[in-house]
Amino acid sequence: MPFDPCAFHGEKFVGKPVTAYTRWSIAGVRHGFRQKSCVNCATERYAPVIQVSVPSGDESIAWPETCLGCGVKLDGDVFLTWLTFYRGQDRKDYVMPCCEPCTNSARETLRMGAQELPDRDPGNGAKVGGATPYAPDEPRRKPVLPW
Ligand SMILES: [Zn+2]
Ligand SMILES: [Zn+2]
Repeated sequence: MPFDPCAFHGEKFVGKPVTAYTRWSIAGVRHGFRQKSCVNCATERYAPVIQVSVPSGDESIAWPETCLGCGVKLDGDVFLTWLTFYRGQDRKDYVMPCCEPCTNSARETLRMGAQELPDRDPGNGAKVGGATPYAPDEPRRKPVLPW
């Protein structure tokens, strides 16, 4: 079976792809994308995104008070981008709670060479208000790449 070309470098590659499923909503309209890439591009492109994300699937996520990307105060104005990465059977889920400019630039990366998916994931990707405080002295996490 032929492999799809890498979403980032645009060519076919050998080895297990990394598949990213991403969801977010804009003005109440949900968008979902699937992006397949080689492990090299995935590492390079997703590391900065994962760096500003928190693992999801945990009911007790506390949204940060400041953007994890640029440090601007969010005042409850958090934009959420939901990310699921697969490599083979390994699955990792994250949510990126950031300010609008950081969110937009990450979403640009996540849309490169991606395929838009029909909306069938209700409940995710909403913009939330009323951010709950985050431990202010929580150390900046190093990205833990799922592959
Ligand atoms: Zn690539
Ligand atoms: Zn920011």
